[in-house]
Amino acid sequence: MNRRLAQGFDAELTPADRAPVRAVIALGANLGDRSATLEAAVEELRRLPLVDEVLASTPVESIAVKPDGPDAEAPAYLNAVVVLTTRLAPSVLLAFLQAIEKRYGRERRERWGDRTLDLDLIAYGTVVSNDAVLTLPHPRAAERDFVLVPWLSIDADAELPGQGRVDALLERLRDPS
Ligand code: ATP
Ligand code: CA
Ligand code: CA
Repeated sequence: MNRRLAQGFDAELTPADRAPVRAVIALGANLGDRSATLEAAVEELRRLPLVDEVLASTPVESIAVKPDGPDAEAPAYLNAVVVLTTRLAPSVLLAFLQAIEKRYGRERRERWGDRTLDLDLIAYGTVVSNDAVLTLPHPRAAERDFVLVPWLSIDADAELPGQGRVDALLERLRDPS
């Protein structure tokens, strides 16, 4: 791997020097064999360098959301969440996620368009960053029950950095009053 890319956010450290960090990845698919694609994507994550302790949720189904709101006409999504430990820099992990998406036929056309595979980096340790290329935690994670529910199912103490416990976020989402 390109050394400058591998250095990611922290120019002082090579990947081997990094302490392991817990990262949370949301997987989504609404085209093709969704279940097979999600399973294959989890396998790809297990095979990444400097990644271990990969824990995957059971997939959940959800209605597609388009820029105008929920769209029952669009193919439904299958979503899952993976928690893993990694010594990859966040930018390098994102580059790997995008390479996996591409391998499974992801095409980017309109915003929130149908897709064979979407991999979002939801959280990387406690990092908070407003960089548009990689915003951490993922800026829409707290509003998405298809992220919070599978995440909570594999980590009862999950926390979204800067935004609080996932169980509390979910409660607020279900009962905003
Ligand atoms: P959403 O981000 O609302 O879930 P999306 O997944 O459909 O929408 P994409 O087209 O997959 O959006 O990604 C658009 C851009 O988002 C990517 O080019 C990527 O650089 C950027 N991005 C910023 N933060 C993140 C993150 N935490 N995880 C993944 N991509 C991110
Ligand atoms: Ca997404
Ligand atoms: Ca994405």
